[in-house]
Amino acid sequence: RRKKRLTPEEYAKGVIDGNRVILSRAITLIESRHPDDLILAEKVLELILPYTGGSLRVGITGVPGVGKSTFIESFGKYITSRSLKLAVLTIDPSSQISGGSILGDKTRMEELSNDPLAYVRPSAAGNALGGVNHKTRETMLLCEAAGFDVILIETVGVGQSETTVKGIVDFFLLLMLAGAGDELQGIKRGIMEMADAIAITKCDNDNVRQGKLAKAEYQNALHLFPPSETGWSPKVMTCSSLQNEGLDKVLEVILSFEKHMKSKGYFEANRQQQNLHWMHETIDNYLKRAFINNPNVTEQMDTLENEVIQNKLPAIAGARRLIELFNKKID
Ligand code: GDP
Repeated sequence: RRKKRLTPEEYAKGVIDGNRVILSRAITLIESRHPDDLILAEKVLELILPYTGGSLRVGITGVPGVGKSTFIESFGKYITSRSLKLAVLTIDPSSQISGGSILGDKTRMEELSNDPLAYVRPSAAGNALGGVNHKTRETMLLCEAAGFDVILIETVGVGQSETTVKGIVDFFLLLMLAGAGDELQGIKRGIMEMADAIAITKCDNDNVRQGKLAKAEYQNALHLFPPSETGWSPKVMTCSSLQNEGLDKVLEVILSFEKHMKSKGYFEANRQQQNLHWMHETIDNYLKRAFINNPNVTEQMDTLENEVIQNKLPAIAGARRLIELFNKKID
């Protein structure tokens, strides 16, 4: 049975009123690749835009097994216990991320999902590596218009997705394990450099001592990075999600970061840059898709690719010819 289609105004009103059912439907609409939906989704976004901007946007990353979902569940409960409304954009356990504890883990964040102050939305990662999809930013804006105070965006620390998330959040939190070198954890130096804070997970029982050592090590490592122009120096903390320890400190650090950035004007400036960047990135993606789908281009693509492979044509000449074909009127 097909649901009745809503008008853009109905979507927007439902979202702004905080109606969870309509919010979920609006997110599904945003994620759709159907051409009709794209236009409808854009209208909805335009209508809700004046209601966005009020949330604190936090990205959380770390390799599979570091304890992300356990952390988000415990930290999320701590946030709602402070009467803050929380949205979590998380990785859909049924989507194909391999090599981690995510597969088949169907009970992720069950308690948080039942918390009336929390909204948990698993995003269909599709083929996007790391769980951040092409519409995560728009999804975040919808949640913001729905009035959530804090939005947590989860990603797996495998590469590109971190850069994407860093580009859409205010605060970037990296989760790390004690007692495993950063190479072992597959965390690239570049990702550490993006972090506004590092939380060392699972610091309980036999792990406490190692956790403290790791904290000192990471603090030293971070000192070697060039200081940020904002004057914020990344913090390192230890926590235990299972024993609910150190979670208060994590929130404290995030809030003090917000205060610091707002007092210096960096908070807004960062968001303005992110908006601009997103527009340009969207143009890049759109053009690339239009290029690849252009019939003149597709017709010649194989031939020119072969000539380039066989060194009969310089790569830049091949590119120029294809671009000329792209610019040619289709008859
Ligand atoms: P994710 O793959 O990063 O989402 O990691 P999970 O949250 O699924 O956690 C991976 C494993 O670490 C699970 O077996 C958890 O029970 C365990 N774990 C997570 N947090 C803690 C913690 O605070 N202390 C301890 N001892 N184990 C934890």
